[in-house]
Amino acid sequence: MTGFPLQPGATIGIVGGGQLGRMLALAAARFGYRIAVLDPAADCPASQVANEMVVGPYGDEAAMRRLAGLSDVVTYEFENVAVEPIRKALGDTPLSPPAEALEVSQDRVVEKAFLNGIGVATAEWRAIDAAEELAHALLDLGGDCILKTRRFGYDGKGQARISAQTTFSDAFEAIGSAPAILEKRVPFAFELSVIAARGRDGSVAAYDPAENVHTLGILKTSTVPGRIPPEIADAAKAVAGQILTRLAYVGVIGVEFFVGNDGTLLVNEIAPRVHNSGHWTEAGCLVSQFEQHVRAIAGLPLGPTARHFDCVMENLVGDEVRRFDALVAEPATMVHLYGKAETRSGRKMGHVTRVAPLSKPL
Ligand code: ADP
Ligand code: MG
Repeated sequence: MTGFPLQPGATIGIVGGGQLGRMLALAAARFGYRIAVLDPAADCPASQVANEMVVGPYGDEAAMRRLAGLSDVVTYEFENVAVEPIRKALGDTPLSPPAEALEVSQDRVVEKAFLNGIGVATAEWRAIDAAEELAHALLDLGGDCILKTRRFGYDGKGQARISAQTTFSDAFEAIGSAPAILEKRVPFAFELSVIAARGRDGSVAAYDPAENVHTLGILKTSTVPGRIPPEIADAAKAVAGQILTRLAYVGVIGVEFFVGNDGTLLVNEIAPRVHNSGHWTEAGCLVSQFEQHVRAIAGLPLGPTARHFDCVMENLVGDEVRRFDALVAEPATMVHLYGKAETRSGRKMGHVTRVAPLSKPL
């Protein structure tokens, strides 16, 4: 096994070969690193740009061991990796971000308890294990709430809105009767996210927060600087830094926030990986979130996070990818497609980032 910092020619293993794994692989290649990807699908988006594919289920210990055998460090592009199998399979191969970050972020109850435990405010919440517990929790939280599965939710999936009129058994069934969390609905003015990183030397760097708009639970646009006042941006960056340090984290993290009309910041959730709302960094910054993650896990110094353009990142979901010809003809737009063979409704197929000169000088 090589020591840190990783030298060109070393291999980074990525669990998950979706678009995030693909973009990590592209960034790693610029430093001469090799990429091995573990994914159940041989033709996953990252396979087109990876040096080695390990095809197998994520929970498969043998497949994970094969990945570890090929890799000098292992990282992941999504948080639903079973922790014990990965710990066992990796042996001496370092895992970054650490397994603790997986544990905290893959269960919404553990996540909220962790955040509140380090003094970070969230929506009010109650753990729900059975439909019978809903009525009491709803009374406790005072009405208008969202029920979410504790695990495996993404892009708004595994969620049901609940009000006094809702039939509790229907709501619980709607999310598959899985262990759940009931969250008070936050009447936010807007949502923002911070993409931040912590290096092996403990240094922390954060990008400017993005204002995020979701359509049907899926991120539609991330706008920087959006409507975010500098003091809220600084406060959100500080919270992200606090989370990174408490987790002894190495790598890039995405922290999603709700911003109240009075400027109150509540953390919605954390993602221990590069994040869709940070895709603008590839067009707006010298060092993208993908390179930053590679730098962190390879033991290199973190790169600059200064923003050189105002940016609007827009996801291309489903058929929107068919606008390709028009998008590549735009004068100030970076187009990035994920190489997915099949276009499906609700599927993220690519994104574009439109840039403009900075509204406020650096
Ligand atoms: P996912 O893992 O699917 O991203 P989130 O918890 O981030 O799940 O929820 C998706 C979106 O739903 C959020 O970005 C926000 O727009 C809305 N949402 C989630 N929880 C709440 C809440 N407690 N109050 C208001 N809106 C919420
Ligand atoms: Mg989210």
